[in-house]
Amino acid sequence: MVAGFQHETNTFAATPAAYDSFVNGEGFPALRRGEALYELEKVNIAMGGFLIAMRAHDCDIVPVIWAAACPSGRVTRDAYERITGEILDAARAARPDAIYLDLHGAMAAEHHDDGEGELLTRLRAIVGSEVPIVVTLDLHANVTERMMSTVDAAVGLRTYPHVDMAETGGRAAALLLRLCSGERLHQQWRRIPFLIPVNSGCTEMGPARDVYRSLGPLGGDSTCLSFAAGFPATDFPECGPAVWGYGDDADAVRSALDTLYEDIVRREADWQVSSLPPAVAIAAASRMADGATRPVVIADTQDNPGAGGDARTTGMLRALVDARVSAALAAMWDPTAAAAAHGAGAGRTVSITLGGHPGILGAEPFEGTFVVEHLSDGRCRFEGPMMRGTEVDSGPSACLRIGEVRIGVTSRKVQLVDRSQLRMLGIHPEREQIIVVKSSVHFRADFAPGAEAVLVAAAPGPIPANPADLPWRRLPPGMRTSPLGPAMP
Ligand SMILES: [Zn+2]
Repeated sequence: MVAGFQHETNTFAATPAAYDSFVNGEGFPALRRGEALYELEKVNIAMGGFLIAMRAHDCDIVPVIWAAACPSGRVTRDAYERITGEILDAARAARPDAIYLDLHGAMAAEHHDDGEGELLTRLRAIVGSEVPIVVTLDLHANVTERMMSTVDAAVGLRTYPHVDMAETGGRAAALLLRLCSGERLHQQWRRIPFLIPVNSGCTEMGPARDVYRSLGPLGGDSTCLSFAAGFPATDFPECGPAVWGYGDDADAVRSALDTLYEDIVRREADWQVSSLPPAVAIAAASRMADGATRPVVIADTQDNPGAGGDARTTGMLRALVDARVSAALAAMWDPTAAAAAHGAGAGRTVSITLGGHPGILGAEPFEGTFVVEHLSDGRCRFEGPMMRGTEVDSGPSACLRIGEVRIGVTSRKVQLVDRSQLRMLGIHPEREQIIVVKSSVHFRADFAPGAEAVLVAAAPGPIPANPADLPWRRLPPGMRTSPLGPAMP
């Protein structure tokens, strides 16, 4: 039996994830059931990779449901119970010999802090202790005691941008087959004592690149090692990074895990994050773009919908307009502005307030008169390496222009990770000098190869680049809220 249920919950974020968010997918494949799960074989996600890997083996697969939504505030009780209810009902009916779940590992519902642990506990109670349960987890999983004590094996992603999702599904299939053949896998896991900023987890540079590359060689043929950098915006006692491993030789697993743990903590300072103020980032981008044939891409990291932001802050927009540069910014989540643009029609002007994030100084709504440059139904297909093949429906969307700044506006909140999303908005990424994306790291997979440079800017927003800036209340005593940062009392 296979199923997927994913959410990365920022407990500080205002907007919850309701059932409708999972139906749409909001940048992830839309909710689907039964045989429709096989369509995910065409998408670079773990479920797709798992199903492809299992083709060669003679077993009956019961595909149940797959659902994910854009990171946000807590999952509503309604959405959580409806989706987990379908998984649990299927387990009762199917009486499976083995179970694979495609999970994220940082889901908090309105009524459960540990969404995955709760689901797995209920599932284990139904199928009993003998049925192997194997799960895949995101690189941003907050691994919990209940998760690790209920699964027979867990496998984490090793790249950020997450371009190895399907491959990770394949590794999960291999572990499940080992368990089904009667092999016993020993588990070891440990927590890391400091939070890792989202941007520092990027595996294209810095300590993350080295550590994740070491997982394969360190584990060798028999031990499967994972390292979740964690999601540093879920305020509950089990938030944070963790390392774990499975193998047939308990001593070998322990020894490999100790080496991995030491390698991560000895370079704690290297995990610290840096970013630029908006005006500084734009000035630097202007200098770099002058005479260049490729755009400079700036991450508007503190409003990343991929971490629970609402893609509505205006700090970067204001700074671009003030700097009088030619640039594109996407995607602002503003259904009212998108409707106004569609109401006016292409080529007309609209005088509106755009975006705005309540309660954040410097993120006030932007008032202006914009030219409606392009209208779109908001549908596109990811062509880049990150979740290639995903069909996205951003709802009625538009490109608005003020001065030389083009702003992509959508009716659905979707992280900007793929150049197809800009083309859908009538923006040609290759022709832009400066592109500002509402994303932290995922955009790099499709944008960085064609970019003159990539910069990270910190405009006022709901997702601090440094997790120590969040008002933590429930982390355990001693946990450092950033690398070498303050410890919880
Ligand atoms: Zn992630």
